[in-house]
Amino acid sequence: MKKKVIALYPGTFDPVTYGHIDIIERASLFFEKLIVTVAINPNKIPLFSEEERKNMVIRAVKKFSNVDVDVFKGLVVDYAKLKKASVIIRGLRAVSDFEYEFQMSLTNRKLAPGISTIFMMPNEKYTYLNSSLVRELISYSANVSDFVPPYVIRLYKKKIEKKK
Ligand code: ADP
Repeated sequence: MKKKVIALYPGTFDPVTYGHIDIIERASLFFEKLIVTVAINPNKIPLFSEEERKNMVIRAVKKFSNVDVDVFKGLVVDYAKLKKASVIIRGLRAVSDFEYEFQMSLTNRKLAPGISTIFMMPNEKYTYLNSSLVRELISYSANVSDFVPPYVIRLYKKKIEKKK
């Protein structure tokens, strides 16, 4: 049964991968609305612009009727409050994710006690997958079709062509 709870799934999505999409699909089953929020992090220089990342995520969530996409800058908990979201979704792939996510989730709880972080695990075939691996592989023209949707690959190729 879907509860009337709004959840946020924040991330850099540079680029969106099948691992992210797996988490989006799982989370979409449990919440009234899921807002995938593309974070603008001043400490990270992304490969794909904010607009490109947002557009790729929009394509990725097209098939889910209760999933929205937005871009945000600042604290996730502030954005969650603005959107009346009481849950933050994060993906957990391996033990290596745990320490950072544990710290983030407890910090967010301290800042906003009414907001809970819920962790979801993707299908095991995506547990070793992350966006930085994809960025590295794609830059060497390796085949990443098992990791990202075709439009991500097309967009990357277009970007490279433009630079030439
Ligand atoms: P961030 O910079 O916030 O970690 P990412 O886009 O790398 O942004 O990841 C967003 C969220 O998605 C994080 O919770 C991350 O653990 C999760 N995630 C990333 N890749 C995968 C994957 N392959 N499977 C499941 N979750 C993932």
